[in-house]
Amino acid sequence: MSDSDELKVLNPATEEVVATVPAASEQDVAAAVVRAVRAQTRWAALAPADRARLLRRFADVVDAHLEELAQLEVREAGHTVGNARWEAGNARDLLLYAAGGAERLLGKQIPVPGGWNVTFQEPLGVVGVIAPWNFPMPIAAWGSFPALAAGNAVVLKPAETTPLTALRLAGLALEAGLPEHVLQVLPGHGHTAGRALVDHPDVAKIVFTGSTRTGREVMERCARLVKPVTLELGGKSPNVVFADADLEAALNPFSFLDNSGQDCCARTRILVQESVYDEAREFLADALAVVVVGDPADEKTQMGPLISRQQLDRVRSYVPEGAPALRGSAPDGPGFWFPPTVLTGERPDGEAAREEIFGPVAVLLPFADEADAIRLANDTPYGLSGSLWTRDLGRALRVSQSVRAGNLSVNSHSSVRYWTPFGGYKQSGLGRELGPDALTAFTETKNVFISTEGPAQ
Ligand code: NDP
Repeated sequence: MSDSDELKVLNPATEEVVATVPAASEQDVAAAVVRAVRAQTRWAALAPADRARLLRRFADVVDAHLEELAQLEVREAGHTVGNARWEAGNARDLLLYAAGGAERLLGKQIPVPGGWNVTFQEPLGVVGVIAPWNFPMPIAAWGSFPALAAGNAVVLKPAETTPLTALRLAGLALEAGLPEHVLQVLPGHGHTAGRALVDHPDVAKIVFTGSTRTGREVMERCARLVKPVTLELGGKSPNVVFADADLEAALNPFSFLDNSGQDCCARTRILVQESVYDEAREFLADALAVVVVGDPADEKTQMGPLISRQQLDRVRSYVPEGAPALRGSAPDGPGFWFPPTVLTGERPDGEAAREEIFGPVAVLLPFADEADAIRLANDTPYGLSGSLWTRDLGRALRVSQSVRAGNLSVNSHSSVRYWTPFGGYKQSGLGRELGPDALTAFTETKNVFISTEGPAQ
């Protein structure tokens, strides 16, 4: 990454410059935190119903700009327009869901002798959110909106390749009437602006989404200040397909091709029971051949480019020339294109089978029986998501209890719903986002005991 004080945002489908955005320095971050501290005091003092009303108004404004936000995501991130519309809608829906939480941030009344005991969920203060480039808009929203609803101010650093939707969301927040500096977006480099946010003593918590390598560094730096972190990191999720499954649904290639595979929940390890391995291979070969890869703004396109040349080089490094594989096609010329690929000659302990590739590349591996499937599914340092496919209910329950991952789906490839908790086991992360408890992760619990014995004489 360059140290330039300007970020050039490229359209990954054309390599043309879409926008140039100033990069925040350490001093800019420090100044933003000072503004956020002041704004947060007033924001937290609002009646919860008023905070909720403002967030609902923010949702209405996002809704009115859905198409604009989606088109921006297409240009800066190369997402297919259908996906980008879903992403803008997800930001709006999460605002509405989190707004309700502001009015239901309940404490407990705990029976104790000698008095009454109550707990309060109090906002942390200023929350720093560091977002990646793979889902710029939803991930910025997941970190920021519940934090706002709980009465915190947010300083958000988007990825340097994709700052535009986050900047627009902050503009829409002001338009909706959110107080100034309650939600600030500071595009910048990770090792300057990102680090400054992590190291700032007045930033009470960091929510980080990105690589396990950078997440580890963020956690180490937060430890020096005993600062809480939520980490959403990498994944290498299994798709466990038993012989009795609906193979067509189970082997849907968009379980790993969606967003060009740049998805921490992508089911990139396709584990298929031996007896249907050949059938699965044939099905996947046919399915990859018809995937429409191209201009993400075209409604018919099913898969767009990768985000950057750097990511393209990284993905290529996992697919050596001549490696046994099933392949689809991809455009030539400008843009960061890689074809849909399933590696068929990989060993379960090989790099492509164990490391997060973050591109449209999966490995196909056979398993013998249920015990073997569970062993293979767990044979990774990650534990974010996974799917399992079988018509045997008992087996579905047994396997879902045995796979160590935060988000499993049975006979489905879904992972992220704003109603349900999302996060990883093992090196896939720490803490949970979304779901009914999302706001609690942005609060401290205060316990107050009120004596009923009267003041001491
Ligand atoms: P990073 O983890 O480096 O980047 C994620 C975010 O962290 C970006 O905003 C980045 O800023 C910022 N950042 C980078 N370094 C620091 C730092 N020292 N302190 C604070 N913030 C920092 O991911 P990459 O973009 O380098 O992607 C590499 C790989 O990570 C991918 O191939 C993929 O495997 C994985 N990844 C996983 C994601 C997930 O959803 N779990 C999301 C993105 C990547 P900047 O943009 O300036 O680098």
